[in-house]
Order: sequence, then structure tokens, then C-alpha cells
Amino acid sequence: MTGQSAVNGHKAGPVAGPGANPLHVVAVRSHRHRAPLLRPFVTAARRTEAVEYVVAEVELASGTIGQGSAAETLAVTGESAATITAALDGPLRAALEGVTDSLTGLAAQAAGALARAPSAKAAVEVALHDAWAKEAGLPLVELLGGRLGDGLMNDMTVSLEEPEVMAGHAREAVAAGAQILKIKLGNDVALDRDRLAAVVEAAPEVRLRLDANQGWSPEQAITILTAFTADGLPIDLVEQPVPAADVEGLARVTAAVELPIMADEAVWSSADARRLLDAGACDLLNIKLAKTGGIREAIAIADLAEAAGVECMLGSMMEPRISITAAAHLAIAHPAITMIDLDPPFWFATDLPRGGFVQDGAWLRLSGGQGLGLELLRADDDPADGAATDDDPADGRPADGNPADGDPVGAPRSDEEPAGGDR
Ligand SMILES: [Mg+2]
Repeated sequence: MTGQSAVNGHKAGPVAGPGANPLHVVAVRSHRHRAPLLRPFVTAARRTEAVEYVVAEVELASGTIGQGSAAETLAVTGESAATITAALDGPLRAALEGVTDSLTGLAAQAAGALARAPSAKAAVEVALHDAWAKEAGLPLVELLGGRLGDGLMNDMTVSLEEPEVMAGHAREAVAAGAQILKIKLGNDVALDRDRLAAVVEAAPEVRLRLDANQGWSPEQAITILTAFTADGLPIDLVEQPVPAADVEGLARVTAAVELPIMADEAVWSSADARRLLDAGACDLLNIKLAKTGGIREAIAIADLAEAAGVECMLGSMMEPRISITAAAHLAIAHPAITMIDLDPPFWFATDLPRGGFVQDGAWLRLSGGQGLGLELLRADDDPADGAATDDDPADGRPADGNPADGDPVGAPRSDEEPAGGDR
């Protein structure tokens, strides 16, 4: 398994428990944003060309402001930017504004404020964590248990495309420093074999993570994964090969193939994780804050995994930098989280706000600073009202676009197509 060792220098415990130091929330606000991607993000379930997202902002009596974010992922969480905004401006604001409680108490208020809406809850819960750590004058990672290491090796995702297109994207990712590629597969078994062969030929030195996003039947998964093993391909794991509801099928695949199988769409909560682990349905878990409703439940899953000796990946939806930075703080603090899949900011034509973390070759490292270590994102950065797109040059790339990707292919946009960055 590629990833960081789980045992290098973990501190004994948090600097200050989440029950300490009550926080007084005076305001909960939200603002909407729209961020074009440098190239379409394509999976077995969805094609995304621009990310609609909402920033949740929590202000404390001291004036400290924390931020979290949630992206529209209709195909995964069922949430649109409109429903996220409605949840934040309605029940979540009502549950938190004017309340004085510990971080744990406030997070519980948010979790119980309405049914479902996990990414809206995650946005405000992360904002609470950001504010909590800023009040303590520390990076969030320190309050989550401390840094396990300097950073974690990130991966770069290769979208589901024709084989030669995927080969080209794999080559570019390796040239940019990637040592692990996450390959999207899963809508045509014969074509999937061609896709993977093309990627391996283009990038023979990298380790591979495969993600079928529920695209195969158990029988298809067993056949294709057995063939990949026979071919000796450098595959570290396979995410969610079969539909999320088919736990028995997932268990069958896990039992039949040598490659480690990771549950993703099948695990939203610690109850899901318990059920999957008890059934022996998977070898690994993919935790995402947008599925769990925030950091507290993500820790519950990771703690459960740690007790079971199961390693976790901290993944994400196609989300903006605020969400990704929160995930990185948790990943670097928790011993059960040995892998990250946090490349979304590198897909954004304009990656805002500044700070949080840096990508250093294949490695993601936190940049320090209080809370998440990010500048505050203003309502008029990446605005959702169309101003961001009106200023685009002809190639579809904002004038201040981040050139780091090296391959801006333009960012075609569709206002009709619902965004949904299922990963
Ligand atoms: Mg996945």
C-alpha cells in the first residue's frame, strides 16, 4: 500500500479537547460561488465542467470568523447550491446563532438541525472548527491530535475519457510530479481494459488507484480485476467497484480478488462503516467530509477503522480549497488515515482563497497559520452571479487563472447541466 506510515511520531493527545473553551456564535452567513474547471471532470456517474459551491461563515463574539464550504453534488449527496444555501440560512443558522457551547455541542446542534444535507452540515461544522482553532491560536491539525508527519502523498485523478485522452492526461500528471494516479473507470469493461493499458503505457512508473464509481456488477468486477492482477499492473486499490447498496456484492468482490477493495459511496457514517467492516465487505474506507456531515463523524469512522486495523483514505468531492484544506488537516492528524485523494484545487481555473496547504511535487503539506490557515474568501471572489465568467478570455480561462496545471484546455461551461463532482 502506498502511503504514509501510520506510526511516525503521533502525539499522545489533543492540545485542548473539543469540550473545552465555550464558543459564542453571533452570526452564521453563507455566500455562493461558481468556479469553472480547467477541463471537464468525468466519472461513470457524471460530467462536471464548473463547480457551484457555497461558503459557510461562522462569526464568534470575539470577532473571529471561521469558514467552511460545500459543493453542489446532486449525483452524490442530492444537494444543490440552492438547497445548501437554504440549509445554511435556515435550520443551521437557527440552530447556532446566539448559542454558546463547546465545539462538540455546537457540532451536535448542526448535525441535528435537519435531516440529510451532509455537505451543508459539513460546511458549517468545518467553519466552527476553523473558528475554534483560530480562537486557540493554533492550526486545526494541532487540535485534532497533532501532525503525524510533514504531509501525505497526494494523487492526481485521470477522468473517464477515451484511452488515448486518458494516456495524455496521465503523462501530464507525471510530468507535474504525480507519483500516484487515480484512474476513473467503470462504464464499459472492454474499454476499461484499454483505458488502463493506455495509462500504464504512458506512465509506467506510477502507482495506480482505480475508481469504478459503482459502474460494474460484482461479476464484471471480479473478471476485470482478476485480469488486472494477472497482468501484474501496479494497482494499490480499487474504489467502489459495484453499486453502493450492494454490500453483499461488494463483499463477494473483496473475497474473490487479490486487490484491496475500498468502499466509498457505500460509507457515509460510522454506522455504515461498522456494517461494512462487520460484513468483511471491504479492505479500506474512503472518508469524505461531504458524506459524513463534517469532521466529528469523519473522526468516528477513522477511530472505528483504527480499532479494526483498517486503513482509510481522506477523499473529497470536486470541492474548493476550503473543503480540501479541512480534509488535509484531519488526514494529517489521524493515524488511521494513511492516504489522501485531494487534488480538486488543481482542477480549478481560479483556486481561491490563498493558503491552507501547498503541493510539493507529489506531496501535500499544510502551510501553517491559525485555524485552517486560509485567507477568508470574500463573497465577490468567484461570484456565482456570472461576473466570473464574463471576464474570461476567449480560451475560457480567467485572466488571473492559476497556470500551475500547465494544461488549460479551456473550461467549457454548461448552465443546463447539473454539477456533481462524485469522486
Ligand atoms: Mg470514489
